[in-house]
Amino acid sequence: MAKSIRVIPIECKFGPISAFAYYVDAPEPALIDTGVNVSARKDIERTLAENDIRIEDIRWILLTHGHVDHLGGAYAVWEKTGRRAKVVIPKKEARLLRDKNEQIVDYKALQGKYITNPAIQEKHITMLTTDISGTIEPDLVVVEGDSIYLGGEIRLKVIETPGHSIGSVTFILDELNWAFAADAVQMYGGFSGLPTIENPALYRKSVQRLLEEVRPNRLFLGHPFRNINGDMQSAQIEGEQVATVLQASLDMDAKLSDVARCHIENGLPAEQHELYGSFGWIAAEIGYTGDPRNLPCAFFVTMNGYHEEVIGSQIK
Ligand SMILES: [Zn+2]
Repeated sequence: MAKSIRVIPIECKFGPISAFAYYVDAPEPALIDTGVNVSARKDIERTLAENDIRIEDIRWILLTHGHVDHLGGAYAVWEKTGRRAKVVIPKKEARLLRDKNEQIVDYKALQGKYITNPAIQEKHITMLTTDISGTIEPDLVVVEGDSIYLGGEIRLKVIETPGHSIGSVTFILDELNWAFAADAVQMYGGFSGLPTIENPALYRKSVQRLLEEVRPNRLFLGHPFRNINGDMQSAQIEGEQVATVLQASLDMDAKLSDVARCHIENGLPAEQHELYGSFGWIAAEIGYTGDPRNLPCAFFVTMNGYHEEVIGSQIK
């Protein structure tokens, strides 16, 4: 049984933010998530080369979910492997890899419905689609309980951890109990200052499951997230910090849930806030000052999630 497996975190930078991809060393090496379009060449290939690893030797491209900052580089990495790497994505989000238009469908259903200025909508859609290096038909779509074997008895187990997005999964390096949860865990939010939570009920359940049942020894996240003081934390967490990070994520959800419920049940203002629409009072109470005209932005995705939870239109 392996005592340790070499994991190389790869910071994929774009604009003011960064997303992490993870190289997992194995007889059939895996790359978990892929950053955006430019990341394959700019960050992934270079970081691997610095570690004497060739990008073309990657045999598995494993995607935790369908957001562009995780799957955007997949096609470019796949090309660099001579299309030999097998591409894996959660079943519920495979459409986002197969078809760029599906990204636009999701954008319009979540953020786009609150962004009334067509020029800003257009700018966002252009950004989202150019961040994707190409569309792929996945070799494998995964669901809860599936396993990926990387050779040498190294197994990644799939557990479904939805909430951040509807189909997010966590890959667990089985015998070490290391969890690649990417964005399923959001603490107090990333760069944009709020956690991105599409479905709060599912998010809560997923984080609770990680905290109480899975209890990983290490947690590998998709971005640096903030702690309660607003300070950015490392995206790679181990030891006792794992439980602290998971609990912080539940605490922030509880806070958002309370504030949103109170305002939504008492009635949202008829007057529209210039930036936050009907959610101006909620933004003020949680001290949110971000600008939803800039991407990435969690605000409307998350507000929409809590709104739907409170008015009872969400799938639990
Ligand atoms: Zn995401």
